[in-house]
Amino acid sequence: MKTYIVGNWKMNFTVGESSLYLHKLLQRIKTYRDIEVVVAPSLMALQPLSLQVDRRKIKLSAQNAYFQDFGAYTGEVSASQIRSLVDYCIIGHSERRHILGETNKDVRQKVAAVIRNGMTPILCIGETAEERKNGETTDIIRDQLLSGLSEVSSEDLDKIIIAYEPVWAISTTKAAKMATPDDIKEVLDLIHKLLKKTYGEEDAEKIPVLYGGSVKATNAEAYLSIPGCNGLLIGGASLIAPEFNDIIEIAKQVRA
Ligand code: PEP
Repeated sequence: MKTYIVGNWKMNFTVGESSLYLHKLLQRIKTYRDIEVVVAPSLMALQPLSLQVDRRKIKLSAQNAYFQDFGAYTGEVSASQIRSLVDYCIIGHSERRHILGETNKDVRQKVAAVIRNGMTPILCIGETAEERKNGETTDIIRDQLLSGLSEVSSEDLDKIIIAYEPVWAISTTKAAKMATPDDIKEVLDLIHKLLKKTYGEEDAEKIPVLYGGSVKATNAEAYLSIPGCNGLLIGGASLIAPEFNDIIEIAKQVRA
């Protein structure tokens, strides 16, 4: 299985800045067949960046997409409208769930729409600090994972990626804490176990499970070395092109 290094730029960079960043990264980056590098710029930048990007080096992802294909949904942009621009689409990021009110039902419909339109959803799941404190982590992970995948047919299981992102470890969360490799391993094991139980060993093994939460060049090696961690979803550190490139190089070394 490939190792995925995904940069989520969130609501940062103008279109011009996005293009400049991509230019810088394309200049630095080396291609490795076993490492898939993905960046998720803001929606406005997707069109120009889709013309600029070298897809042998970097793939593009959207950060969200609406589940209806067309119609009277003012302000929304659908998976079918972005399908020619990107290969991936992040779905159910904790900021969308907790700041913008996205429910498990929205998330599962969006996952299905992204697959229907020929892209790969990166389904984000993760518990908040409060949920963890209350001993609810297992239930939250099970609900978000199985509900998010409930409209995915078994033939499409090789077209999804899961990202475990504990909300309390995301760098912009108030009083964020660094997750330890042991914290992460426990939940990655749970996710792999749930996938195996639900879809069988063979199908479950095709699904990459990434980690995200305060990943930097200084801790990427430790996180990538966790058994069952198939890559990283990176927010803040992905905004700095040299650091993001360093993380790609670290991934190459860890997987060598
Ligand atoms: C994220 O929000 O997806 C994320 C992982 O952010 P950060 O790396 O900044 O914690």
